[in-house]
Formats: sequence, structure tokens, C-alpha cells
Amino acid sequence: MRLFVPPTRSSPGAARVARTRPTNECAQCGEAIFMPEWSEWLNPACARHLWQCEACGYSFETTVRFAAA
Ligand SMILES: [Zn+2]
Repeated sequence: MRLFVPPTRSSPGAARVARTRPTNECAQCGEAIFMPEWSEWLNPACARHLWQCEACGYSFETTVRFAAA
């Protein structure tokens, strides 16, 4: 698993995002997934996370957009 490394920005908005760990729930069994299997920053305002449920093996992707600073 790669480390989740958000881009470092000095704006308050970016700092808030950096402290917020992405979490999700399995869409199939509802198990909480605390860390994405893989994360990719498309640009400083948009990240894509790949989630995989350890309980049932279900995997899915989410794309998160942040308001532009
Ligand atoms: Zn599951």
C-alpha cells in the first residue's frame, strides 16, 4: 500500500484537508474502511481513492474534489 501523501499547501483549506483522513464504508457489507488501498492526486483540488474491503473483498473508487483555494 502506498502512503497517502496530500500535497503540501500553506492555505488553511489545504491544512484542514490534510488532517482529515479519508474514510469510507463498504458499499456491499458496510464494513468501515479506514485507509484507501491506493490514492492518486489528479491535481491539488482533486484526489482519487481506491478502496478495498478487507471483510468481503469488494473494491471501488471514489473521486474527491476540494473547493479551489
Ligand atoms: Zn465489504
